[in-house]
Amino acid sequence: MLEDERRPDGTVERALTVFLAGSECPFTCSFCDLWQFTIDGPTPPGALTRQLGTVLSAHSGPSPDRLKLYNASNFFDRRAVPPEDVEGMTTLAAPFAAVTVESHANTVGAVTLDFARRLRGRLEVAVGLETIEPVAVAHLNKRLALARFDMAARLLTEHGIALRVFVLLGAPHVRASEAVAWTVRTAEYAVARGAAVVSIIPVRGGNGEMERLAAMGAFVAPTLLQLEESLDRCLQFTGTVVTADLWDAARLPACTQCRAARIERLQRLNVTGRAEPRIFCPACDTA
Ligand code: SF4
Ligand SMILES: [Zn+2]
Repeated sequence: MLEDERRPDGTVERALTVFLAGSECPFTCSFCDLWQFTIDGPTPPGALTRQLGTVLSAHSGPSPDRLKLYNASNFFDRRAVPPEDVEGMTTLAAPFAAVTVESHANTVGAVTLDFARRLRGRLEVAVGLETIEPVAVAHLNKRLALARFDMAARLLTEHGIALRVFVLLGAPHVRASEAVAWTVRTAEYAVARGAAVVSIIPVRGGNGEMERLAAMGAFVAPTLLQLEESLDRCLQFTGTVVTADLWDAARLPACTQCRAARIERLQRLNVTGRAEPRIFCPACDTA
């Protein structure tokens, strides 16, 4: 997938995201559905290098600025990314000025620094902070203490590795009426720890567990309006790019008459970072 992304210095990069299939993540966060894109057992050595090579050789035109390697797990877990693949992948990534991989904060450490040293481009690590709402943190099953997140953020920023943070909108156990406020507070927490980019991800249902939590009243699907509200409020932060994840935005509960215009506005905000008047819709706006 190719997209344009703003960086904290105001430049807009072309980023190529490659989705790699490998071993399932050992964490079992309640909101996660990424296991659908993983395999049973450890990733066979050579498989990731082959997948990446296939995608890159199919790509024509100028090389994008950034390569994102998303493996639906933790890049620094050796079961997910076998050490045998590191050399092949860093060689394939050599034409890119920057490379982003994803990892649970608990697996950020010496392997991360070693990978950064081997890359020609600058490394960025995407870490799920999800939410700082204390009740939700205790129930997410993420096994992430905020102190561990802080340690990972410090290690990365002190070594010149960029930090990208995933923040949830509509995390289970966060009241729907407080969802936007907690998303903004969590983004602010990431900004204060040096995040270069914060991506707001609306929680989607469909993994079975979210349906169970919804039936218990512990999960209410976030709406497109809440996503707009969250991003609008986060535009106040400087030095960090905050964007709304729009991969599944068309499925968010929203008014059918203005949905497309609202998504287009969010796409513009993601790239420009400049505040814009809200969309007025006679069908759903009472103002
Ligand atoms: S750590 Fe990430 S990939 Fe693993 S279960 Fe949690 S959200 Fe999913
Ligand atoms: Zn409307």
